[in-house]
Amino acid sequence: MKVFFNLVFALLLILICIILFNTFSFKSRQIEVAPNEFIDVRKGCISRLQESIKFKTISYDDASKIDSNQFLNFHAYLATAFPLVFEKTNVIKINKLGLLFHWKGKDSKNPIVLMAHQDVVPVEESTLNNWKADPFSGKIIDGYVYGRGTIDDKGSLMAILESVEMLIAENFVPENDIYLAFGHDEEVTGRNGAKAIAAWFKQRNIIPKMVLDEGGMITNTKVPNLTKTAAVVGIAEKGYLTVNLTTSITGGHSSMPAKNTAIDILAEAIVKIKQNPFPTELGEVVNSFMDYVGPELPFTNKMAMANRWLFSPLIKNIYSNSPAGNASIRTTQAFTIFQSGIKENLIPGEAHAKINLRTLPNTRENEIISHLKKAIGNDLVKISVEGNKTDPKQVANLDDETFSHLQKTISAFKKDIVVAPFLMIGATDSRYFGEITQQVFRFVPFTDLEGLHGVNERIAIQEYKEGITFYYYFLRK
Ligand SMILES: [Zn+2]
Repeated sequence: MKVFFNLVFALLLILICIILFNTFSFKSRQIEVAPNEFIDVRKGCISRLQESIKFKTISYDDASKIDSNQFLNFHAYLATAFPLVFEKTNVIKINKLGLLFHWKGKDSKNPIVLMAHQDVVPVEESTLNNWKADPFSGKIIDGYVYGRGTIDDKGSLMAILESVEMLIAENFVPENDIYLAFGHDEEVTGRNGAKAIAAWFKQRNIIPKMVLDEGGMITNTKVPNLTKTAAVVGIAEKGYLTVNLTTSITGGHSSMPAKNTAIDILAEAIVKIKQNPFPTELGEVVNSFMDYVGPELPFTNKMAMANRWLFSPLIKNIYSNSPAGNASIRTTQAFTIFQSGIKENLIPGEAHAKINLRTLPNTRENEIISHLKKAIGNDLVKISVEGNKTDPKQVANLDDETFSHLQKTISAFKKDIVVAPFLMIGATDSRYFGEITQQVFRFVPFTDLEGLHGVNERIAIQEYKEGITFYYYFLRK
């Protein structure tokens, strides 16, 4: 008995030693760089941002509702606000409303693409009273510019143009060609804007060295347990897939119902799918996130992330408990439409439901379908797939110089900031570029205070100016 206890004790000791060794050798991946000098941004940059908010460049699913004039007037305004950009770069219009600027550098091969989108989501009538300022006024209140698009995504679009205007004024010539790609329908799939812009590159066989679009941001709250400010950089994004479930049986009068109606069968299928969620997996991107954030966390969190071989069930469990965490580690499913029945005393012959799935990178469609089939276990439920799906396979390589350039620029721009790669849950325009280059990153140097598409979208004046300097140094170095 004593030998047994001694053995257990010895094993426990070894385990503790391994855990501690891994924790203490879990080295920070943050890089020390000298902070950038704060440059004098162009006079009037805030009023230009305010002006940009006034154009109601709203995109709608129903393309006929889009007011093209708002976009064309916005373009005309940009030409007066950034005269050097329009004079020194080649301005290419894509599908009338998309804008692509080509700024020639010393080397035309492997250009760098900065993306942002011109369009914004509508403002719901019912929320108008909750706005502190008219959402299309660009009004300043207590050091913030208010309005739809300040964060998503005109703030970034305007800051990029401000930085390029400054660099051109300094006669700066970039090493590589620079493209500014501003689609006009990001909020409604980007099919006429960014998709066409990416196709333009493809046709000419121009392979960008890197692409930087919106996505990740600066946050003080969204990385649990981290006391420092974080800059999260999207290095991949989830896929989008909608699946139809249909049940067809003989209908009839509800006074003599068969054992199961179409609604019963489909409802049962939905319950079964909910009871069988897709499996969790930390995956390449979430593992990278932990590699970068883990060493900066308090001891116990650091220990868990340094010893994923042991603690991954616990980590997955913690992740599963928040919607954002859960979405990072599994393919999620949400039932968004259920249709059946037309009359209270008639048994419907058909029932339809739609599940919107957000798939982890590298998940195959047939795996998803067979998972659902198995969960349902009933051939009366037919499964089909909607056409508007995306399946981005691109995951950026963090060992490449493009990531270290981005990381250095972020580290130089804010003191003590933790740079962390992460998996984008939502879709961005940049996914179309993921088909032609691996090095696609999603980051804007701003803090989203109210949640995207929310009420009182706003940006701090100081942060906007710092954002201009971010793009300035990103392009200059
Ligand atoms: Zn956006």
